[in-house]
Amino acid sequence: MGSYEDVLGKLEAAVVRHNSFYKESLPLIASENLTCSITRKYYSSDLGHRYAEGKIGERFYQGCDAIDEIEQLALDLTKKLFKAEHANVQPISGVVANIAAFFALTKPSDLIMALSIPCGGHISHDRFSAAGIRGLRVEYYPFNVEEMEIDVDETKKIAEKLRPRVFVLGSSLILFPQPVRELAEIASEFDSKVLYDASHVLGLIAGEEFQDPLREGADVVTASTHKTFFGPQRAIILSKKELAEEIDKAVFPGVVSNHHLNTLTALVVSLAEMLEFGKDYASQVVKNAKRLAEKLYDLGFKVIGESKGFTASHQVAVDVSDLGGGSKVAKSLERINVVLNKNLLPWDEVSKSPDPSGIRMGVQEVTRLGMREDEMEEIAEIIHSCLIKEDDVFKLRQRVKELKQKFRTIKYTFEEEEAYSWE
Ligand SMILES: *Cc1c(COP(=O)(O)O)cnc(C)c1O
Repeated sequence: MGSYEDVLGKLEAAVVRHNSFYKESLPLIASENLTCSITRKYYSSDLGHRYAEGKIGERFYQGCDAIDEIEQLALDLTKKLFKAEHANVQPISGVVANIAAFFALTKPSDLIMALSIPCGGHISHDRFSAAGIRGLRVEYYPFNVEEMEIDVDETKKIAEKLRPRVFVLGSSLILFPQPVRELAEIASEFDSKVLYDASHVLGLIAGEEFQDPLREGADVVTASTHKTFFGPQRAIILSKKELAEEIDKAVFPGVVSNHHLNTLTALVVSLAEMLEFGKDYASQVVKNAKRLAEKLYDLGFKVIGESKGFTASHQVAVDVSDLGGGSKVAKSLERINVVLNKNLLPWDEVSKSPDPSGIRMGVQEVTRLGMREDEMEEIAEIIHSCLIKEDDVFKLRQRVKELKQKFRTIKYTFEEEEAYSWE
C-alpha cells in the first residue's frame, strides 16, 4: 500500500470492474435490486453526515428542521402505500428492524415459532442471530415439503402446548403466501403476536401482487426496502396503532442511534416511485417468475413448488443436487455472467450439508430493467445450455452480454436512465 493516489487508483479500478461486470451480467440474486438515478443522487447529500436521534419535533440535537420534514414525508408515504396505522422508517436494515420487533414484542427467554433456515427462514429469526440477541427460544414450524408450506394443524397442536409469544412469518425463500390469517387466529387465543417479515416481498405487497399481511391479521410487519422494493438499503416497520409506542422505543433508543439520513432521503423517492409504478412493476415481476419457472421445468430442471404452479412471488427455486449441488452450479453460472446463489432446501440439514442442494433466483432486478416473458425464456435456455448441454463458456458469456446489452435502462421510474452509471 503506497500513496493516496495508489489507494485511490486501486479503489476506483475495483469499483469500475464491479460496475462493468454488472453491466454485462444477468443479476438474479433474489434479495437485490436497482435504485434509479434520482434515488442515488440523494445518497450523497450532506444528510449523510448528520444525526437526528429521537422523533420528529423532539430531536436530541439542533439543526434537524429539514430532516423532520424529510422523515415526515417518508412516514406519510409509507403509511399511505401500505395502509398502515403506524410506521417507523428509522431501522437501518432488515435485521435491525427484526431485533427492534423482538425487543418490542418479547422478553428474554420467551419462545417464538419461526421457519427453519432450510425451509426458508432468515438467519435473524434464529437463536444464533437476532432472536438470540433477545435471548429467545425458537421452535421451528412443522413444514409440508410437498406443498412448500407451514403445516397449520400441526403448528396449532404445538402452539397449544408451548404458547409461543410470537409467530414469525415471512422468509428468505418465499414462493407462496403464508398462513397469516390462520396463525393470527391461533395467536389470538393466548394473546400472542404475529410478526411478518416482508423483506423479500415488500415491493410485491406495495404493488398488490402478494398477500397483504396487515389486512390478514399480522400485528407487526418488518421489511428491508431494497429487495423487491427497489429502494435504498434500509428497512421499515409497520404495525397496529396499539403497538406504536413499543415499536418506536425499541427502534430508538433500542437499536439505532444515527439512522442514515441520506438513505432515508433516498427512500422517499422510492416510495413515490412505488406509489406510481408499483402495480405495473409487481405484476410483471410475478409473471416473469412464473414464466422462468415453467420454462426451466420444460427444459427438465427440478423446479420446486410444482404442485402449486412453482411460484407466486419473484423467486424461483431449483433442486440441482443431480447437477453437482448448489455451490458448483452457482459457480458455473457465474462464469457465464449469470449471478445467483446456492440455497438450502427444506430437506437439507444445516449441520450435515455444507453444500445446499438448491439454487434460488429472483427476477425483480431484471424486471426493473424492462425484461419480460420472452427474456425469461432466453434466460432459462442459457441456464440449460450451461448446466445440461455444457456449451462453450465463452460463447454463452457472449450470449448473456448480448441479451443484457438491450436492458440497461431502469424502468418503472419517473426519468428512465442508464443503470450502472457512476461518476
Ligand atoms: C434479507 C432479509 C433480512 C435482512 O435484511 P437486511 O436488510 O439485509 O438486514 C431479514 N429478513 C428476511 C426474511 C430477509 O430475507
